[in-house]
Amino acid sequence: MDTAPRESHEISGWDYEADVVVLGLGCAGASAAIEAGRAGADVLVLERSSSGGGSSAIAGGELYLGGGTRIQQACGFDDDPDEMCKFLLVACGPMADEERVRCYSDGSVAHFNWLVDAGVPFNPSHWPDPCWVPPTDDGLMWLGENSAPFNAIARPSPRGHRPATGHFGGWLLMERLRAEMDAITGVGVVCDFAAERLVVERGRVMGAVGRRYGADVAVRARRGVVLATGGFAYNEVMLRQHAPTLVGHPKVGTDTDDGRGILMAQAVGAAVQGMEAGQAAIAVPPLLLVRSLLVNLQGQRFINEDTYPGRVGQEALYHHGGRVFMVLDEESFESVPPEGRRGARPTWVCETLEELEGEMGIPTGALAATVGVYNTYAARGEDPLFGKNERWLKPLRSPFGAIDVVAPNEVAAGLVEGPRTGFNIFTLGGLRTTIDGEVVGLDGDPIDGLYAAGRVTSGLPRWGYISGTSLGDGTFFGRRAGATAARR
Ligand SMILES: Cc1cc2nc3c(=O)[nH]c(=O)nc-3n(C[C@H](O)[C@H](O)[C@H](O)COP(=O)(O)OP(=O)(O)OC[C@H]3O[C@@H](n4cnc5c(N)ncnc54)[C@H](O)[C@@H]3O)c2cc1C
Repeated sequence: MDTAPRESHEISGWDYEADVVVLGLGCAGASAAIEAGRAGADVLVLERSSSGGGSSAIAGGELYLGGGTRIQQACGFDDDPDEMCKFLLVACGPMADEERVRCYSDGSVAHFNWLVDAGVPFNPSHWPDPCWVPPTDDGLMWLGENSAPFNAIARPSPRGHRPATGHFGGWLLMERLRAEMDAITGVGVVCDFAAERLVVERGRVMGAVGRRYGADVAVRARRGVVLATGGFAYNEVMLRQHAPTLVGHPKVGTDTDDGRGILMAQAVGAAVQGMEAGQAAIAVPPLLLVRSLLVNLQGQRFINEDTYPGRVGQEALYHHGGRVFMVLDEESFESVPPEGRRGARPTWVCETLEELEGEMGIPTGALAATVGVYNTYAARGEDPLFGKNERWLKPLRSPFGAIDVVAPNEVAAGLVEGPRTGFNIFTLGGLRTTIDGEVVGLDGDPIDGLYAAGRVTSGLPRWGYISGTSLGDGTFFGRRAGATAARR
């Protein structure tokens, strides 16, 4: 992919011109355009697909918001920005950016109100059980805040806010942001334009060139260019280079997540960070996971199964090679209603743990020892190894079963293409930016005229990932990037 910048004197004529040019119309691009437009800038959004939406429009729609939103209050949860900040610093770390997390936590209630004012509806009701997205239209859910180790680090409050849809809500978020954006005079959209390179003049970014319907198109940005083109999960070369653990796993996103925005910015001297980090959603039903012992090939547990399943998946893939199994008993399996099992079935069923570990290929005695220790403490309502909540602790009794995470179930079906590996991935690394959305160069200084937000950047989740920190981060820091570009 050739992304070398063009010098302005090489451009024979400009096809479009605006104060602020936004590349990419997902949640970050839309939010940037809204704020730039409200600040009085003349804005042009250039989108590669025929209508925009990106990964944002197919997402679950959870936004990580807290600090005392109206929904949290209505559901009886007492939250404040300090507690939210404490949680995020650990959940998004190690190496979470303290200034960014602080800024996000302090501004979260105002951002929630901004979304509501833009027409994004959230119901004041709480879904209490582990899930990827609530199967109801409840507006609030836990994202690991009530699980170890977080429940000892910060006062637990659920902060997953999902627009009122009854299932995935990304489309509704994008529909409302798009309507808000379209209502602002001076904000325009051109689709079917694939940006290929930035245009520079004496070190300043002042436009972009790309292709539209087979023709070269040049766009001039009087104040700045905001990159909001998404991540790089679909760029195999970049994945192999930066995030090899993610290679070979089904991707969640859109195939426009090809890293072009990152490469275009790198070509003008931008720094990147956190490129190896990825979200690795373990593709199993959370209601079964929480009742199981998740073990590796050595038959050992390595995490509390009741924490946010994205965290479980990241740990399983990055530190246990992705070869993990949910071990449970018949009673626990049957206690989950069929709709909660999402088509998952035991891969092996045995009367004894010795038989089970033999069938699973786990060294003799290893699984039996793990279950023995678990059962001893579970009978007392304790999990001294990983701190799983008492609510989910129950000694396992024969008959036993185990589910291989690569076995088919409905959780991954319809979401991903390609081979089932038990993990669905997207990238978290990207451009280094200031909290005002300025893209930082290799020398540590902002690059004049270049701004970015969303998955094209390394945002809140520096390593650990919590659902809602993509749409939350993209909309929050997208707004800041748009406002900064407009002010220039
Ligand atoms: C199934 C699924 C569920 C998810 N659930 C959640 C969730 O519940 N909560 C959460 O926080 N996150 C979730 N995510 C992650 C989240 O959707 C993304 O990380 C987030 O939407 C990224 O937003 P963005 O604006 O940076 O990029 P996108 O929304 O992907 O938008 C980027 C846009 O840029 C365009 N573009 C790309 N290249 C170019 C180019 N060269 N020129 C012009 N335009 C270009 C694309 O066509 C696209 O429209 C989910 C993702 C998936 C796939």
